[in-house]
Amino acid sequence: MTAEERIRDRRIGIIGMARSGMAAALLADELGGRPFVSDSKDEKLLATRIERLKAAGIPFEAGGHTERILGCDYVVVSPGVPLDIDILFRAAQQGIPIFSEVEFASWVCRGSIVAVTGSNGKTTTTALLGEILTAAGFDTFVGGNIGLPMSEIVLKVPEDGLAVVEVSNFQLQTIADFAPDTALILNLTPDHLDRHATFEDYKRAKYRITENQSPDQTLILNLDDPEISVEDMKTQATVHYFTTTASARAAAFVRDDRLFARRGGEEFPIIAASEILIRGPHNLQNAAAAACAAVQYEVSPEVIKRVLQDFPGVEHRLENVRRIAGVNFVNDSKATNVDSVCYALRSLDGPVYLIAGGRDKGGAFERIIEYGRGKIKGVVTVGEAREKIFNALGQAFPVQFAESLEEAVKTAFEMAFPGETVLLSPGCASFDMFENFEHRGRVFKEAVSNLKNGKNSNEALPQK
Ligand code: ADP
Repeated sequence: MTAEERIRDRRIGIIGMARSGMAAALLADELGGRPFVSDSKDEKLLATRIERLKAAGIPFEAGGHTERILGCDYVVVSPGVPLDIDILFRAAQQGIPIFSEVEFASWVCRGSIVAVTGSNGKTTTTALLGEILTAAGFDTFVGGNIGLPMSEIVLKVPEDGLAVVEVSNFQLQTIADFAPDTALILNLTPDHLDRHATFEDYKRAKYRITENQSPDQTLILNLDDPEISVEDMKTQATVHYFTTTASARAAAFVRDDRLFARRGGEEFPIIAASEILIRGPHNLQNAAAAACAAVQYEVSPEVIKRVLQDFPGVEHRLENVRRIAGVNFVNDSKATNVDSVCYALRSLDGPVYLIAGGRDKGGAFERIIEYGRGKIKGVVTVGEAREKIFNALGQAFPVQFAESLEEAVKTAFEMAFPGETVLLSPGCASFDMFENFEHRGRVFKEAVSNLKNGKNSNEALPQK
């Protein structure tokens, strides 16, 4: 069945009016399908989305999912929607197929799909790889879990173009035919277990990224991650590995602090690790992954090098905000778990004043001591997890409380000397005080901008 036949005149139930659900509805409509959108939220909270649907003449319901969904030929689920809700259970019972938004969008993609998944580094690697492929002259569209949903970019991708998409395990749980030209699994850590019963279930969902791939398609894996095992995957793809060691098995590797690629038995030096603008060992991994994929598209080492020298990273991930009176401010609001705080500390040259706190996700904050020793000169803590952070770190570092993020920024700034860094790396979720981590990051940056100091400077920080 062609993509058009799967969509034209079909009754397509779409669960969730978030960005991906909306994009899927509009795509279905554009291709002659009959979308019906359903959301459990109250109509008042969905006003702008509903306006759009009305303008497009797409029927919908709000405030709950009704039988109308069960009258559809199949259902497309927005990634934020839990798969264990009653309506999906009933749909499955009646034999109505359930697809993720990425699966649905992939049907109509004429170009090649490059799909990136993993526990950490997805956004960074997707954005970086998108930049490299663009710089190499490919008509590249980046989306999925970052920026635009796949349904929104997919019609723009020409036959010889590339859709580079970040794919979460939620999206992968309900694929059917999704078969990316290139799939990347960056790493697997048991951080995201809230919607998966066990780590094994979580892994199995991630591994689905490759289950429909054919031998002429490529699977890129992290050789350094002991949790990733190709033996446990159902794959026919051609496998290539990346590593930050000098392993001879890998298509992208690091030797003598230099990133190399290997293709057709030949080695190509790409760049010295110190020249890569995004910092830290984890970003070296992300760079190796992106290089590994780029080499499969025959991108030259010079192009990869140029992009790695210039790519500034993604907002809220160790983002250099600015320097005020010689004090560096770094926004790592995306660090919502303790692991990420440790990565941040490994990536920065000390001394550091750490701003941490928010809604605790069960983090073992004591682990920060090991990575912060000799580097952290002080901690300012905010939000619900304040007491816990004080108890965990108070013996090792001076810890101060703040009532708000703005106050934390001021307190840290007062303590810091020129050449030192104030780092927001919360190690907690943001929902106690903010809408999401992006909101928290923006508030931090605004607070930094508002710092009044005679020696204020707007100079953007060069990344090292
Ligand atoms: P994701 O999209 O998978 O959440 P991001 O690229 O947004 O990943 O990075 C989020 C955080 O994860 C970063 O701030 C950093 O702390 C951590 N991180 C990034 N890349 C890696 C990696 N390769 N391995 C482990 N942690 C990483």
